[in-house]
Amino acid sequence: MRSYFRKSVDNTKNVKSIGEEGEAYIEKLVSEMTLDEKMGMIHGVDFFENGSVERLGIPSLISSDGPHGVRPDFNEDWSGKNENYDFITYMPCNSALASTWNRQLAYDQGKVLGCEFRGRGKDVALGPGINIKRDPLCGRNFEYMSEDPRLVEEMAVPLIRGMQINDVAACVKHFAVNCQETERLSVDTEVSDRALNEIYFPGFLAAVTRGGSYTLMGAYNKLRGTHCCHNKELLDDILRDKWGFDGAVISDWGGVHDTMEAAMTSLDLEMGVFRNFDEYYMADPLKNKILSGDVTLDRIDAKVKNILRTLYRLKKIGPDTASRKAGTYNAEEHRHVAKQVADESVVLLKNKSNVLPLDKSKVKKLLVVGYNAQCLHALGGGSSELRSLYEICPLMGIKMLLGGNTEVVYEKGYEPPVLLNELRSWQANSTDIEAVRSGGEKKELDREKSLILKKRALEAARDADAVIYIGGQDHIFDAEGYDRSDMKLPYDQDVLIDELLDMRPDTVVVLMSGSPVSMPWVQKADSLLFMYYAGIEGGNALADVIFGKVNPSGRLVETFLKTADDAPAHMNGTFGAKEKVNCEEDIYVGYRYYDTHGTQVNFPFGHGLSYTEFEYDNLAIAKVSGGGGSIEVHFTVENIGKRSGHEVVQLYVRPVNPGIDRPIRELKAFEKLMINPGEMVDVTLSLSAIDFSYYSEEAGRFVVDHGEYIIEVGASVSDIRMDGRVKI
Ligand code: BGC
Repeated sequence: MRSYFRKSVDNTKNVKSIGEEGEAYIEKLVSEMTLDEKMGMIHGVDFFENGSVERLGIPSLISSDGPHGVRPDFNEDWSGKNENYDFITYMPCNSALASTWNRQLAYDQGKVLGCEFRGRGKDVALGPGINIKRDPLCGRNFEYMSEDPRLVEEMAVPLIRGMQINDVAACVKHFAVNCQETERLSVDTEVSDRALNEIYFPGFLAAVTRGGSYTLMGAYNKLRGTHCCHNKELLDDILRDKWGFDGAVISDWGGVHDTMEAAMTSLDLEMGVFRNFDEYYMADPLKNKILSGDVTLDRIDAKVKNILRTLYRLKKIGPDTASRKAGTYNAEEHRHVAKQVADESVVLLKNKSNVLPLDKSKVKKLLVVGYNAQCLHALGGGSSELRSLYEICPLMGIKMLLGGNTEVVYEKGYEPPVLLNELRSWQANSTDIEAVRSGGEKKELDREKSLILKKRALEAARDADAVIYIGGQDHIFDAEGYDRSDMKLPYDQDVLIDELLDMRPDTVVVLMSGSPVSMPWVQKADSLLFMYYAGIEGGNALADVIFGKVNPSGRLVETFLKTADDAPAHMNGTFGAKEKVNCEEDIYVGYRYYDTHGTQVNFPFGHGLSYTEFEYDNLAIAKVSGGGGSIEVHFTVENIGKRSGHEVVQLYVRPVNPGIDRPIRELKAFEKLMINPGEMVDVTLSLSAIDFSYYSEEAGRFVVDHGEYIIEVGASVSDIRMDGRVKI
């Protein structure tokens, strides 16, 4: 029998110290620099570049967004350079990557990203975005990974390690609690210490210690009254002193608001979106504070050193510059990885009477309905916009797979009133406060046109052998700078899907979106697939899943609610507040809330089906000493179906009589396993003290209560297959 063993969270630090020699090297450089040279290094002198010191051979640090590919370059007025040689590989967005629950793929995607950033001559990749999805309506949720901190940690660490292998710095963002876009530059966030430590910090802690992220980006919002980019508690007390971070802290673009605060905290580099670089808080205003004696020079030296240390790690200065990797972009193997990630990101939500996979030989006439079937998404979303070498849309993927022996009829069914490529560039909008305030360029739907498109689709559905609906959202809704106002599918799609399902209950419904949507018709749909924006090969991945070349294995990284009103941040009225967000739900974010309060949801966290079935058995829990773990949970999983497939086994810990308020259960371990039909594998997941702990505000640290705990093993937070008890 094949065996798998997964150690409890591997806390090995991956921070590469630059050693005594390295420290001496950068000390010497600092001692030779003039004040102006130092000042130039700690603020942007271009949109994505700080000052260099040619005299001393110190190059600038060149950054680029991020997070799922290299952003195209800009002219001085933020118009795109649109060069014919800047096309890159558009990788699946972070939500899609996390949906694979596959650490190896996170590492592989990281390697591709690192290689492409380096290949395009960049030093810092502005990502990954790992903010917790506090609420389904946050416009940037597609850039983030999950509502669950353990899943975020476990996917972010290999992703960052993979990126940095290629001599590119990750810039994990946005630290911290950047969970809404509404008034993102000024909104103040109040969160308890417990929620910070249990929910909002673990991803960042893991990213800088286990992942070894060379740089980190401060968030736009305020935390407890002070902007995150110069928040002493966040940057000094926690990041530097507690977590030992010695890399560079970069501001979000335009995230600095005060010269003295910026000087006196551990922010190293101020970046922005306007070209008045000398007027940046950390440019002339800070220089004047030095000259007047209000700020001492050692504050500047500390910042310069953190930047130099980053350049050293990147082999941009120091003894190893000749061996710095060159990278490349658009290599064939990059597209291969993009396809694998996309394949494993697709989530099969429903498959009643095994409608899926469709048998290609039986479909002579196929109807595809929905604008997203032929919509391209790479060039949208805000700062994560990309110029992809190509993008296979779902319809193209399907047509490529079927070839000429199947007639594929396409009907739009609906059409957005504004198309992404008709909009003014997102960045131009972002620098125009009036445009941002007025909510952008969302136009009203042309109802008459909608009716005609719907009628055409319904008529075409009558005589097709199979009908596939491909809708969802686009980057008008999943976008930086805006939050959604509700979870409803845009462009009246609910009516269209509902009527389509009445006529053709066998319609395969596919939603491609950056965040969950409500599905009032969900009971009527027999087969339902969900995918996040899945990169350059997304359409091929979807086609392969629909026609059974790929057995779906994505699992939900966030709860799919029936309506946003059920989300705790809506019930307590704090989501989208303009001035102050008080995270009253505390640690009860995502399933921690729904599970504990018995909320009826459309699909639970961790859910996802396969074309085969798995049986769990033989649970045994053993205490062990040594080896890093304290409890070993053994069990077997057997593929009892007819196809090879991946199962994502999930382990939740449930305290029996907790001495403090705790969620019913929390994810503590998981593993993705490929199992052949008839095969049984033996799995061991180990747990250690941290997996039973909670953050005690009284003690100011994580503590473990003695007592009984239930160990649950299952296929989602609501599909627990076995449990056993253990005394700690
Ligand atoms: C975003 C960051 C991004 C930066 C640079 C900001 O608007 O919040 O995530 O990296 O711009 O483009």
